[in-house]
Amino acid sequence: MTYPDLLPLLGDTANEIRGRLVPNQLLSAITWFRVGGPAQLLFQPADELDLATFLKALPEEVPVTVVGLGSNLLVRDGGIEGVVIRLPMKGFGQVEHLGGHRLKAGASVPDKKLAEVAAQNSIGGFAFYTGIPGALGGALRMNAGAHGTETKQRVVNVNAVSRSGEIVTLSNEDMGYAYRHSSAPKDLIFTSAVLEGYHEDEGVIRREMDEVTAHREAAQPIREKTGGSTFKNPEGTSAWKVVDAAGCRGLQIGGAKMSELHCNFMLNTADATAYDLETLGETVRARAAKATGIRLEWEIKRLGRFAEDREVLPFLGEVGE
Ligand SMILES: Cc1cc2nc3c(=O)[nH]c(=O)nc-3n(C[C@H](O)[C@H](O)[C@H](O)COP(=O)(O)OP(=O)(O)OC[C@H]3O[C@@H](n4cnc5c(N)ncnc54)[C@H](O)[C@@H]3O)c2cc1C
Repeated sequence: MTYPDLLPLLGDTANEIRGRLVPNQLLSAITWFRVGGPAQLLFQPADELDLATFLKALPEEVPVTVVGLGSNLLVRDGGIEGVVIRLPMKGFGQVEHLGGHRLKAGASVPDKKLAEVAAQNSIGGFAFYTGIPGALGGALRMNAGAHGTETKQRVVNVNAVSRSGEIVTLSNEDMGYAYRHSSAPKDLIFTSAVLEGYHEDEGVIRREMDEVTAHREAAQPIREKTGGSTFKNPEGTSAWKVVDAAGCRGLQIGGAKMSELHCNFMLNTADATAYDLETLGETVRARAAKATGIRLEWEIKRLGRFAEDREVLPFLGEVGE
């Protein structure tokens, strides 16, 4: 699948852009699942101003999608039409200690690095990030959390660029946080954030980080091609319990499998397509609804187009509820 070249739409602005523009870049190269078709145009801006200039010049009918480290994404086999923006480390990967218990970090800073810098500065409340394999931008959008702490507890404010190229600042309240969700306008690309923790001894933080790592190693298939938790925890229970009750632990479709170790994690065992993975997810949803009456909601973000004749229909409508 190859998309038509979008560069001519930028006109003269294309020459002003300092970042990297790559047509038809395969996204399987950057997603944790190692699946996904091409981005029509992948843009890696040099900095926030470069991003704003690009978005101002891009005709408004061209769709824009932002991706982070791809650890919570299922990009479909037909790829993503329009521009896909990925903020690189250079320009968006700095962490600064602002004094007190505050850090300012770029959206491409890996969560693990945030935890490390917080520990070095005796700032508590960031150890949970040690085990989350994304970057700050994804954490801000997903309200990433673990071990009883969520991103929303750390956010003071967030800088972002809108689809029309305006640079804006949002407060914690503006981010509209709920479980694994932010209701901040969908077009916003988060570029950096000020985060706040509290005083804690470095030794205590390091022990907490070690515990998080040990738990991950034992309980999650962290060295596999996966997207983390496939489904959100339903009210009052855990998604893995629902998947298990539906008999779907280890269920396999093509190269896609529900992990035996943690059955809310989907795996690309070798050569799965996005079609295999999404079909597996929808099959689990249908079986879970039938077995338990619970409608599981996807936590993984599914993006892009299906490959031709490989559309996956949501199965829940088909189980006679
Ligand atoms: C092994 C494993 C373990 C995991 N454990 C956890 C866990 O314990 N807790 C948890 O919450 N998650 C977990 N995850 C899921 C994932 O790591 C988090 O959701 C993470 O925050 C996603 O960050 P990312 O950079 O990979 O974003 P991506 O997966 O690339 O994108 C996720 C979403 O964020 C949006 N996004 C990304 N960057 C930006 C930006 N700059 N501006 C605006 N929107 C943006 C994307 O459009 C997309 O909607 C796990 C994943 C794996 C593979």
